[in-house]
Amino acid sequence: MSGLKFDKTRCSNCKGISCLVECQYMDLDREKARTEWQKIVNGEDSFVLEACTTCYACEEYCPFGNHPFYLIVERQEQKGILPSPRPIITMWINQCEPVGRFMVGMVQEKALSSCFLPAFGLLVGGKLFEDIAWSSIFGQEFFCNAVYLHYARMSVIKERLPRIIENIQKQAIKELICLHDECYGTFTSLAPAYGIEVPFKPIHYYEYLYDKLKEYKDEIKPLNVKVAYQRNCSVRLAPDTDHFVDDIFGLIGVDRVEREYDRENALCCAELIRMAKGYELADDVQKRNMDDMVKVGAEYCVFNCPACWDSLAEKVAKRGIKPIHMIDICKLAIGEKPALEV
Ligand code: SF4
Ligand code: SF4
Repeated sequence: MSGLKFDKTRCSNCKGISCLVECQYMDLDREKARTEWQKIVNGEDSFVLEACTTCYACEEYCPFGNHPFYLIVERQEQKGILPSPRPIITMWINQCEPVGRFMVGMVQEKALSSCFLPAFGLLVGGKLFEDIAWSSIFGQEFFCNAVYLHYARMSVIKERLPRIIENIQKQAIKELICLHDECYGTFTSLAPAYGIEVPFKPIHYYEYLYDKLKEYKDEIKPLNVKVAYQRNCSVRLAPDTDHFVDDIFGLIGVDRVEREYDRENALCCAELIRMAKGYELADDVQKRNMDDMVKVGAEYCVFNCPACWDSLAEKVAKRGIKPIHMIDICKLAIGEKPALEV
């Protein structure tokens, strides 16, 4: 199984088959889901491999941590199924190769990783980061590579991830605060699923923000606003971090409005669905998501992932909802100015 820790017997004995039954992009009853899943486990053709939008959600739906989505990606690659057009996949593989383009700050044992996303250069600032802003790494050498899950290229991840981890280890970093949610998911889910050792402690930036906000508790002015949370695809790799959203919102006086498309039923930003499945489905997913935000009276839409920001921030603003990144809404609560604006 190419190194993936996957338990066939567990699937054979599984009653719910929730990996496929709960999929928001396929309408499968339990028996159909069982049949199709068994085909995938056996390495046979299944329409599921073509229909999958690579939303990552089945990783969260499986109650046994049996990595159904990683298996789907393996099978897509084995069968030459392309979830996106080949030129886009090739472009991503080439432009993110770790070939020496990176930046390393005055790195301490505890450091920030901006992955390969320049937006974090703008977001990291102010009191919440004053002790650590310079202890940071950025660039292809530190890029987690999980994006290739969207492109049926598990082979690229398996080849590059150990090199990326080694690059981080060479900086003598002991605790890595992952500003990109997907890096955290890579180090805590993807790497262990393939038996790849992670010789440092990954810390989700939500946990970091929560601890920092507690230090500044006396300076917090409750925002008293209703927000819709844009729960991104990579949260599915580490759903146990979701409670930090509630914890942070509790500290800064924000109401995470209950809505149809949050938590396990979240809809992703759909930008990769646009490439994989076309405009019609992507537009429908985005419209349903934003209609839901409007319906519950959200004043802000809080983003976790900068890629979701790029695809949805302007659109939610046009619907009368203010987009804001999680780091920025924390800054706002202690009287600082947000960095990202549309
Ligand atoms: S992957 Fe998980 S949910 Fe799906 S059949 Fe196997 S054990 Fe059940
Ligand atoms: S990744 Fe998403 S679309 Fe694909 S099978 Fe899993 S839940 Fe369904």
